[in-house]
Amino acid sequence: MKEGLRFLPMDPTHTTLLECRQAIAGRQISAVEATQAYLQRIARIDPKFSCFVETYPQRAMEQAAQVDAGKVRGPLAGVPLAIKDVLCTDYGRTTCGSHMLENFRAPYTATAVRKLEEAGAVILGKTNMDEFAMGSSTENSAHFITRNPWDPSRVPGGSSGGSAAAMGADLCAGALGTDTGGSIRQPAAYCGVVGLKPTYGRISRWGLVAFASSLDQIGPFTRTVTDAALLLGVMAGHDPLDSTSANAPVPDYLAGLAQPGNGQPLRIGLAKQYLSDQNDPQVNQAVAEAMEVFRKLGATAVEVDMPHTEYGIPTYYLVATAEASSNLARYDGVHYGHRTNEAEDLVDLYCRSRAEGFGPEVKRRIMLGTYALSSGYYDAYYLRALKVRRLIKGDFDRAFAQCDVLLCPTTTGPAFKIGDKIDDPLAMYMNDVYTVNVNLAGLPAVSLPGGFAQVGQTRLPVGIQLIGPAFGEETLLRIAHLFQQHTLFHQARPAAVV
Ligand code: GLN
Repeated sequence: MKEGLRFLPMDPTHTTLLECRQAIAGRQISAVEATQAYLQRIARIDPKFSCFVETYPQRAMEQAAQVDAGKVRGPLAGVPLAIKDVLCTDYGRTTCGSHMLENFRAPYTATAVRKLEEAGAVILGKTNMDEFAMGSSTENSAHFITRNPWDPSRVPGGSSGGSAAAMGADLCAGALGTDTGGSIRQPAAYCGVVGLKPTYGRISRWGLVAFASSLDQIGPFTRTVTDAALLLGVMAGHDPLDSTSANAPVPDYLAGLAQPGNGQPLRIGLAKQYLSDQNDPQVNQAVAEAMEVFRKLGATAVEVDMPHTEYGIPTYYLVATAEASSNLARYDGVHYGHRTNEAEDLVDLYCRSRAEGFGPEVKRRIMLGTYALSSGYYDAYYLRALKVRRLIKGDFDRAFAQCDVLLCPTTTGPAFKIGDKIDDPLAMYMNDVYTVNVNLAGLPAVSLPGGFAQVGQTRLPVGIQLIGPAFGEETLLRIAHLFQQHTLFHQARPAAVV
């Protein structure tokens, strides 16, 4: 080594999750140092973006010390993560971004979080979200708004906006979100990170506060597909506490990334219904360029027809609100959650507690859902929506007979301005047009950094989405990884946070 040449100490806040894990395992850095680096970064940078609802510095440092002492081992030993505030933990509060659960302390920890901790992960804190995961901008949080690290005047997306923004601002090595209609993929696209929504049933929902139980799934935010494969592998699997969790073997997703495939050229499906000329042209451009990347690697483009795509939004907003109205009936002011101080009788207690505890969007959904389920309207709305849901799934079944994955935009454009859509619920709902059908069909999909859009002076990330057949995560991730190996979009960082 030349005299005067010094190695800088490794900075775990600018590595991938896998690199962070390897640095800790190789003792280049201790778990305590890695955790401290992230906590310090959160203290310095989070005030600009407001990603975290609360952090657990003391507990996190204790977890890290356990790793350094060799008492906790595993594939995530010492890796600092953030989790969405809809996941129950037997420490801290679980607020779901709602006044209703402002002081709620869960008596147990969600299976997905427990598995991460058993694998050695350190939990830094809980991230902000739209109230009860209803929204696409995180503006529906009862706490505060979260800002996009690429442009603080814009939303980070939602509902898992806090996790996506924390990931985009390098405030954690990985994060958890939940996706009922796009809440992992859409904010991942807006914040320039990877967001994976696994197949319905792949990860236990036990300890995830329910929004729409037939659609909800937990999934990771990461910088790379490799990191997503690692987190998925740790969390996936059957859980006796969630009867909808699949009893299907969990492949080694990480090892799967390096597998050569079936020897046949990859078939990438493109549907015209997803490439509308109403999209920001820079989004369609990113999809076309992604197809070029795959084509150069020997893939063929297959045109597929998804004729029921346009019914996704009305179907989703009937099914999701119907299930929400039933799930949120439990917040009655009696069992747990907010209770009014001023009730005259029992019915008044229910009414006032709910009126005071829920925000406007949650109330809107409860009313819509209750209406759709009420006798006389059930057949016309809810039952009809279930039938259309089946038709939408049929579109995907036919598509996957012709191709390995579908390639499409994650969103119609880049992140919008704070305040732009909050008074126009329909415009906000339309935002989910390319994500909700995946949930209705129960499929896995991933959003990847796929380019940039120039909006005035601002450069904003654009996401591309890959959708796979049910339980096809291995192939989906392999193809997504291939894309990342031949592109650099995921390495870009917002200037404001470096
Ligand atoms: N934006 C969608 C909604 O508001 C999706 C939310 C989610 O996936 N949790 O319902």
